[in-house]
Amino acid sequence: MDFEELLMKNMGRLHPRIVAWIEKRLKKIPSISQKIEKEYDEMMGGLEASLKPYKDTFPTFAKLPEAGRDHKEILRDMEAMRAQEESHWKDGYVSGAVYHGDTEHIDFLNQVYAINSQSNPLHADVWPSATKFEAEIVSMTANMLGGEDQNVCGTVSSGGTESILLAMKTYRDWARDTKGITKPEMVAPVTAHAAFDKASKYFGIKMVHIAVDANFRADVNAARKAVNRNTIVIVGSAPSFPHGAIDPIEELSELAREHNIGFHTDACLGGFVLPWAEKLGYNVPKFDFRLPGVTSISADTHKFGYAAKGTSVILYRGQGLRHYQYYTASDWPGGLYFSPTFAGSRPGALSAACWAALTSIGAQGYMNAAKKILETADVIKKEIRRIPELRILGDPLFVVAFASDTLDIYKVLDQMTRNKWSLNGLHKPSCVHLCVTLRHTQAGVAERFIRDLKEAVEYVKAHPEEKGEMAPVYGMAATMPMRGLVGDMLKKYLDLIFKV
Ligand SMILES: *Cc1c(COP(=O)(O)O)cnc(C)c1O
Repeated sequence: MDFEELLMKNMGRLHPRIVAWIEKRLKKIPSISQKIEKEYDEMMGGLEASLKPYKDTFPTFAKLPEAGRDHKEILRDMEAMRAQEESHWKDGYVSGAVYHGDTEHIDFLNQVYAINSQSNPLHADVWPSATKFEAEIVSMTANMLGGEDQNVCGTVSSGGTESILLAMKTYRDWARDTKGITKPEMVAPVTAHAAFDKASKYFGIKMVHIAVDANFRADVNAARKAVNRNTIVIVGSAPSFPHGAIDPIEELSELAREHNIGFHTDACLGGFVLPWAEKLGYNVPKFDFRLPGVTSISADTHKFGYAAKGTSVILYRGQGLRHYQYYTASDWPGGLYFSPTFAGSRPGALSAACWAALTSIGAQGYMNAAKKILETADVIKKEIRRIPELRILGDPLFVVAFASDTLDIYKVLDQMTRNKWSLNGLHKPSCVHLCVTLRHTQAGVAERFIRDLKEAVEYVKAHPEEKGEMAPVYGMAATMPMRGLVGDMLKKYLDLIFKV
């Protein structure tokens, strides 16, 4: 039996749980598991070259070098790698990833980092500067997100995922303590970030996914039906990572309030754009603490807050909720121990750089940045709408997802990749997105994007026989009924990343 035939044939018609059951048994049959392994090896062999381009050009260290290396040599090698990588994101070929990226801004943050490189907020007595910075980062972010006079508090975390994990753990512990819920569930749209699924897996909270409507916004009626007495929190995105859609936060948070449960707005992506977009007159539905049902918000300083990578803010309505996030150990021989987030020791220099970003840019600076980004996104949306083969999904502000009814969109993505672009390939439905950042507001970048996109579409139309490089992989990963195999494939990919 042919492997792919086996995967594809009829499996899509079966219930996912039955497919998973069959899959588990199939993998136990030696001939099949060998065949799967062989397929993986072939796929990974192809990927290894592109993932490990420095193997032959720079020294590799599988173990510590006997004698320490010269600083100059290390710096020279790193500069050489930087030289190969930098233009890619700096010239605006990458979706998301680097949200500011101006040399002057980066140099300033680096200077701040250098001043604070030894700082660790775990030792509040040694570095009161770190605690000053973090308290003010939280306060400035809360204030920006409607938290003024609302008893909003929070902490700094290492990124959006940590902020979300912390919030979900907080709701789990809160619901167990105050409501006696021992089989907690969260209700989240299918478009909510994967970090919520991670939280569900890590903390034993059942994930109840709800559908989105034609504009990729969470279906409020589905949420209403999904809530039960074990529900601890409802989640909405402002906006969502895949399609940049803002969920109906007002309705969803009211639903949560009716049930006296938590509501989390994931503003990881939009937290530092939407408040300014609203002031600029864009149509931004309410999503922040001005809505009484919103009990927590995650907002990433390391995205549109323009801080260095490694910081985010998690905010709560009320100190009571925040207390469920904290960890304290009073009987440890190591002394009285307490920490606000998952980590123990933390990089105080990143918090310092974050504080420096917020205070050096200021409200006016964030407003100007948002204006540039939204205007650039408007141009890009207008031009994509003029390409007959493409269709924009929903009505986004600055994350523009597009699909095609006539072409394999992953082949278009392949063509864009050939032209240096790093866009995001998404599935369910198959589409591609560009998250517009300040990098794309540089002169000529939007125009180049549209020109290359048109060319890619024309190329795919003219070469229907070409399979593309990643297109078949994306296509298979998107449609393969055996999701466990797709997961295994991703684990192999991670293994490859950590291969010396
Ligand atoms: C980026 C993002 C996250 C996760 O953030 P990380 O910083 O990558 O951990 C969560 N939600 C949304 C909407 C995001 O865009």
